[in-house]
Amino acid sequence: MRTFLKNIGIFVIAMIILALIANVVRTSKEEVRSVALSEVAAQIQRKEIKKIEILDATLTIQTTDGKKETSRKELGESLPTELHNYGVSIEDLKGVELVVTEESGWHYWLGLLIPVFGPIILIGILFFYMARQVSGANNRAMGFGQSVAKEMVADEKTKVSFADVAGMKESKEELQEVVEFLRDSEKFTSMGAKIPKGVLLMGPPGTGKTLLARAVAGEAGVPFLHMSGSEFVEMFVGVGASRVRDLFNRAKKLAPAIVFIDEIDAVGRRRGSGMGGSHDEREQTLNQILVEMDGFEANSGIIVIAATNRADVLDPALLRPGRFDRRVTVSYPDINEREAILGIHSKNKPLDPTIALRTLAERTPGFTGADLANLMNEAAILAVRRQLKIISINEILESVDKVLLGPERRSHVFSEEEKKMTAYHEGGHALVGHLLKHSDPIRKVSIISRGHAGGYTLKMPTEDKHYHTRAEFIDDLAVALGGYAAEKLIYGEDMISTGPSSDLRSATRIARDAVTQYGMSDALGPRTFGTREELVYAGQGIAEKDYSEKTAELIDSEVARMVNDARARATRLLTKYRGQLDRIADELLKKETLEENEFVALLDVEKGSGALV
Ligand code: ADP
Ligand code: MG
Ligand code: ZN
Repeated sequence: MRTFLKNIGIFVIAMIILALIANVVRTSKEEVRSVALSEVAAQIQRKEIKKIEILDATLTIQTTDGKKETSRKELGESLPTELHNYGVSIEDLKGVELVVTEESGWHYWLGLLIPVFGPIILIGILFFYMARQVSGANNRAMGFGQSVAKEMVADEKTKVSFADVAGMKESKEELQEVVEFLRDSEKFTSMGAKIPKGVLLMGPPGTGKTLLARAVAGEAGVPFLHMSGSEFVEMFVGVGASRVRDLFNRAKKLAPAIVFIDEIDAVGRRRGSGMGGSHDEREQTLNQILVEMDGFEANSGIIVIAATNRADVLDPALLRPGRFDRRVTVSYPDINEREAILGIHSKNKPLDPTIALRTLAERTPGFTGADLANLMNEAAILAVRRQLKIISINEILESVDKVLLGPERRSHVFSEEEKKMTAYHEGGHALVGHLLKHSDPIRKVSIISRGHAGGYTLKMPTEDKHYHTRAEFIDDLAVALGGYAAEKLIYGEDMISTGPSSDLRSATRIARDAVTQYGMSDALGPRTFGTREELVYAGQGIAEKDYSEKTAELIDSEVARMVNDARARATRLLTKYRGQLDRIADELLKKETLEENEFVALLDVEKGSGALV
C-alpha cells in the first residue's frame, strides 16, 4: 500500500513537471495567428510581410506591422516554388526576408508531442508498475507458504553415489535397503512388507549426513527434495506448517521421491518446554510434519530422510514407530575411513606421490569428513599461492594446523617479553604432557599465534580412542594447567597473564565432566548429575538439575579439588624439570615451532618419566 501511494505521488509530480515543460515550450512562442499558405501569398503580394522563418514545414511570419503568424508549407518543396503556385512572383518576394532555420525539430516536436503523448505514456507506465506490483504482492502472498525446497533430480553429472561417500560401511548397508525400497517397492509390497517412511541420520556436524542422503537419492535415481529445518520457520505463524504441506504435496506428485529435511532439530525440538520465542510456530510446523508423515500411505513411494546432530533434543513423537523409526548413526571417521576420505578429496589434486595418506590419517584423529575435505582444499590453495606444481607435505601439514586452530596471525606483533612468556607457557604444557604417562604424545609446540591462541601445543593419540580412562583425565588436567603453572613458576604470582584463561576454562570443564558425567569422583560415586536433555534458551544449554543443593556444593568442591591437585602436580613437575623447561623455551624463541621429533630430541627425559612426581 505504501508503494502504491508513492507511485501515485511520483505520477502527480511527473504530471506537474510535464505540464510546466509543455507550458514553457508553448509560451516561448507568443500567441500567433495561424494562416493558410494562400493567405500568406496574398499578404506577400500586398507587401504586408517583412520576414519569413522556415523551420522544416513550419513558417513563422513577421508582418510589417509587427504581428506574428504561422503557416505551413509542404515538406520537401521550397517556399518560393510553393508560393509561385499561388501566383507570387520572384519580384514579389524581393521585399521579404527569407530565413531558413536549421534548429533541429526537437523543440517543435517536443512541444507538439508531450502534451499529446506524455500523459498517455505516463499512464501506461503507471499502470504497468501497478499491475506488476499487485501481481508481485499476490504472488508473494500466494507463494508465502510454499516450500522453498530445492529439488534435485540427479543427472549423471551432479549425481552422488555411495562411491563418493568414503567409509560408513554400516550406514551404507542400512541405507542400501532404502535404495531398494525406492527402486522396486513391488518386491516388498508383494511380500506384505511395509516400507519405512522415515530415516533419521544422526551424527556430529560435518560427518557426511547430507552427503549420504544425496547418495541415497543418487543410487535410487529418484528426485530429491531438500529443505533445511530452519527454512520452515519464518516470522509469520503458520508459514512453516503450510510449507510442510506444500513440500509433501510436491513429493507426492514426484513419487517415488526422497524428502530430505536437514537439521530437523530446528523444528523438531521437544515440545512444550515453554522457553524461547516463536514457539507456537515451531510446534505447528512439527505437528504438520507428523500429520503429513502419518497421512501418506506406507507404500506411496515417499521416504523422508532427516538429519540432525542433536538427536537428544528431538521430540519423542518424531521417533515413534511409523515416523522416523529407522535410525542411522553417522560417527567420526576412524583411521581407515579418514584415509579413504582423504583419498576421495585428493583425487583431482596433484599430490606429491611420496605422501602417504595413511600417515595423514594418523595425524588427524577427531577430524570429520568436512574437516578433511577442507584440509585438502586449504593445501591446494596454499600450493597455488606458493606457485607450486604439486601439493607437498608442507602445505598439508600447515593446513592441518590451520583447520585445527585457525589461520596463523603472523601480522600480530608480540613484544619480546610476551614471546618469552608464551614460550614458557607452551613449554609448560608440552613438558608436563611429555612427563606424564597417560597423556597423548606431544606432536608440535609453537609460539606462532593462531586464531585466538597466542601459541599452541598439539597433542594427539597414536590411535583413535573411543574411551578415556580416569588416569587420562587426571593427566590431561595437569597438562591443561601446565601453561598456567609455568607462568607462575617463572614470573611469580603477580605476573600471571590473562593468557591462560581459556586453559582454566577447559580444565574446569574436564574436571566437571569427570565428576558429573563419568562418575570418576569417589566422593560422589558412580552416577551422573544433571540431565543432558538441554533446553536451549538464548543459544545456551541449561542443564536441568536433578540433584540437591548439598550435592551441588559437593560437586563444586570435588571439581575444585581435582583442579587444584592438577595444578600442584604440574608445578611439582616443572620445578623438578626446570632445566628442561628452560631448554624448550629457549629453543621456541629461536625456532618458533618445534615438531615432535625436534621436541623429543631436545629433552633428556623419556615420555612418562615424571608419572610419580
Ligand atoms: P553434515 O551434513 O553431516 O554436516 P555434510 O554431508 O554436509 O556433513 O559433509 C560436508 C562435506 O564433507 C561433504 O560435502 C564432503 O565433501 C565431506 N565429507 C563428509 N563425509 C565424507 C565422507 N564419508 N566421504 C567423503 N566426503 C565426506
Ligand atoms: Mg548437513
Ligand atoms: Zn595454554
